[in-house]
Amino acid sequence: YPALNPLVLSLKESATLAINLKALEMRRQGKEVFHFGFGQSPFPVPEPLQQALRSNVDKKDYLPTRGLPELCQAVAGFYQQEFGYEFAAENVCIGPGSKELIFQTIYLMEGPLLVPAPSWVSYGPQAALRGKEIVPIPTRRDNGYRLQPEELDRACNRLGQCQKLLILNNPNNPTGAFYRKSEIEEMAAICRAYQVVVISDEIYAMLNFTDRPHCSIAQYYPEGTIVTGGLSKSFAAGGYRLGVMLVPHGLQLVLEALKSVISETFSAVSAPIQYAALEAYGNFETVRPFVQRTNEIHRWACEYLHRRFTGMGLNCPRPEGAFYLFPDFQNQREALRKQGIFTGRQLCDLLLEQARVAVLPGSDFYLGATELGVRVAGVDYDGAAALKAWPGFEQIN
Ligand code: PLP
Repeated sequence: YPALNPLVLSLKESATLAINLKALEMRRQGKEVFHFGFGQSPFPVPEPLQQALRSNVDKKDYLPTRGLPELCQAVAGFYQQEFGYEFAAENVCIGPGSKELIFQTIYLMEGPLLVPAPSWVSYGPQAALRGKEIVPIPTRRDNGYRLQPEELDRACNRLGQCQKLLILNNPNNPTGAFYRKSEIEEMAAICRAYQVVVISDEIYAMLNFTDRPHCSIAQYYPEGTIVTGGLSKSFAAGGYRLGVMLVPHGLQLVLEALKSVISETFSAVSAPIQYAALEAYGNFETVRPFVQRTNEIHRWACEYLHRRFTGMGLNCPRPEGAFYLFPDFQNQREALRKQGIFTGRQLCDLLLEQARVAVLPGSDFYLGATELGVRVAGVDYDGAAALKAWPGFEQIN
């Protein structure tokens, strides 16, 4: 008592939030914890955004359901200029984080949800809340955990005629994988053939550690691809809770339904926050140096960790974007077995208890329980200090 919706009963608190609380609690008890469990930017919110927020605290009216019109315009312009996408202001929806917009889109669509495994923790529970089947498509470490076109083709073929929704997160949380143009092009052709609706989760699009430009399925399959992003990662403002979604004209029905669902749920995002976001998207040149510099620092930190992991003999693909690494302890299995460690979860408990290192097991990202890949969020440093010291940051190595 009281009886709950059965779809809710399978849900636990999000794994990333849970590890964050556990690590913070250990710190409160005076224990030293290396907190690589939570994917939050360590940097301060860029000053122009803070300033815009302060100047707009008096904005108190409900804004239109899809968002402040100038912001929708600015978001469309930003994605056109930075990534070459052809979206107009009327294709844009503003939400309280891209997480909520992704949830609402999963909610309003029929058909199973395909996700490459490993992928972000929340897609699965969101699908479960809707009673939707989730179909993880395993990827391989030797492909850098990037879904290969033939693997996508096989999965679509197996599912037969039904409508399919695919979430492709590029760059990827939890692996730092960053897709190649040829892979994206081929997957776009497959999605078009099977009429797959794609959510291209691009929250890390500006965290790119390579010399290659960001590549999106939205460029090759624009009619069927929804793009999501927001302030949380490159703009270092996760707590502002502002995400964006760009829905193409080809998916007009989704956009209409989204507007209705928003109007009956959160109504609109907080007005002052939307004005702060207008500074980020509409006046990006003032924030670009911050985005570039923080990207460099993230890259340095991830490459440093990568050197350390491979130096310890762990298999770990080189991270090419986002701020995560995914070292695999598979080649330590025998030694771990002798200590009674058989699962990724047990390994993470051991790492937290004995080494005071907080990381998450692959099973939180749709891998099997006995897989020994773990997610390391390479952001456990003082971002404000790093910003000040950069480019001297390298000397702390
Ligand atoms: N997508 C991925 C892959 C993420 O890692 C996150 C946050 O951790 C989100 C979406 C959600 O971001 P937000 O709701 O803050 O926009």
